[in-house]
Amino acid sequence: MLLTLETNGPDASKISYLLHKHPDKVQSFTMSFGKVHVYYPKYQHDSAVACMLLDVDPVGMVRGAYRESDFMLGQYVNDRPFVASSFMSVAIAQVYSSALGGKCKDDPSLPQTPFAWTARIDSLATRGDSQWVDRIFSPLGYQVTTHSQLLDPEFPQWGESPYIQTVLSKTCPLSVLLTHLYVLIPAFDNNKHYFVGEEELTKLLEKGEGWLAAHPHKDWIARRYLRARANLVRTALSRLVDEQPQTDIEESPTPEEPSAEAVIRLHDQRHSSVVEELIACGAQSVLDLGCGEGKLVRELIRKPQFQRILGMDVSYKSLEIARKRLRYDTWGDEQHRRVELIHGSLIYSDKRLHGFDAAAVIEVIEHLEPTRLESLAKSLFMLARPKHVILTTPNKEYNSVWESLPAGQFRHQDHRFEWTRAEFQAWCHQIATLYGYRVEFKGVGQEDPDRGAPTQMGVFHRD
Ligand code: SAH
Repeated sequence: MLLTLETNGPDASKISYLLHKHPDKVQSFTMSFGKVHVYYPKYQHDSAVACMLLDVDPVGMVRGAYRESDFMLGQYVNDRPFVASSFMSVAIAQVYSSALGGKCKDDPSLPQTPFAWTARIDSLATRGDSQWVDRIFSPLGYQVTTHSQLLDPEFPQWGESPYIQTVLSKTCPLSVLLTHLYVLIPAFDNNKHYFVGEEELTKLLEKGEGWLAAHPHKDWIARRYLRARANLVRTALSRLVDEQPQTDIEESPTPEEPSAEAVIRLHDQRHSSVVEELIACGAQSVLDLGCGEGKLVRELIRKPQFQRILGMDVSYKSLEIARKRLRYDTWGDEQHRRVELIHGSLIYSDKRLHGFDAAAVIEVIEHLEPTRLESLAKSLFMLARPKHVILTTPNKEYNSVWESLPAGQFRHQDHRFEWTRAEFQAWCHQIATLYGYRVEFKGVGQEDPDRGAPTQMGVFHRD
């Protein structure tokens, strides 16, 4: 991943003094996340180009401090080597430190001198929202050009890549340009590799001095830079905004609780039945496997009996929503010790799931290909092996009660199958026998005399 700085004019070759990097050789620096190389593909007295190439080592990161503990495969397969991220900021701060700080030993007045700069960032993460590049850089006086590309020209229907090439031009001292890049690149990326704490807030206020307070999108920048840690964002904004009323920084308010009079929908009924079962079996530590957006986790948190709760889902997006809804970022250490949300898949053996009293697997199995069920059963009943497992799935027989559901259609477009009561019970009995559990069956929702309840529940116990 590449950051290119170009300048033209009579003093262009002074770039090597500004950057404090010799123009005749490639210089390499070892960083905690990989290597950084600096070189000049063009170096003439009136035109010079300096490149900073980041060679991020995604596997090295696994061993280093940047392990993203809740995304297993992400340790190996991730966009970090290719995207302009907070690693770029770290590289700017370390490799171009004197330029960023506006210092030049050989010519102290040089850093204050404006140069006509063109900076090219090869892949800025915009998450599909490229207008923000213009909204963020234009108010700072940059001329902005962006180039987006199709994800795959052979499949135009996949749409455009969320990463775009961005070219920024402005005449200013180099330290101004580097400071903007230092703050704004990670704000775009919104996927910081280090823990965001007080120190980051201090950095933002320090590096944002003189420009951030007046920026029309200062709240967006602060929120993204601090990765939406609500309390820090609030502090940052309150320090940046003196008289103006405080901006509402909540992106997604917690959904309203259903009122007492409201009809309890099947979904809620399912979760209440599961919570009742978990309470009845005396579980103190509970897994919510395929926790989705965290509805059951929220119910579990309310019950003091559950001293340890771990929600896992294969969908990173659902986990992010769950975190937001539960206001995960505002919790204290004790709450973080009690409740964890992790990224993972139920079909792989996973040591993080060991040692729990009970597991809830609510409306998840029907999202898997039937050929994967054996792996799920093995990782859950043989390896994680909680004492109690509560498993729910739709009862296919009930579908005909819903007139709006065309015959033969599944309840959800992501369902790979739906089972009759006989099919579900046969599968559960087979697992119980294989792994040494006993199983009982219950219905959830209003029971139809012939077709049973809309949701079927299998409750497994191991003695
Ligand atoms: N249990 C939640 C969500 C049910 S939707 C509830 O009752 O509200 C099904 C969920 O299973 C989705 O969030 C989906 O991402 C998750 N899922 C599907 N396959 C999975 C797998 N292999 N491992 C973990 N979660 C999975």
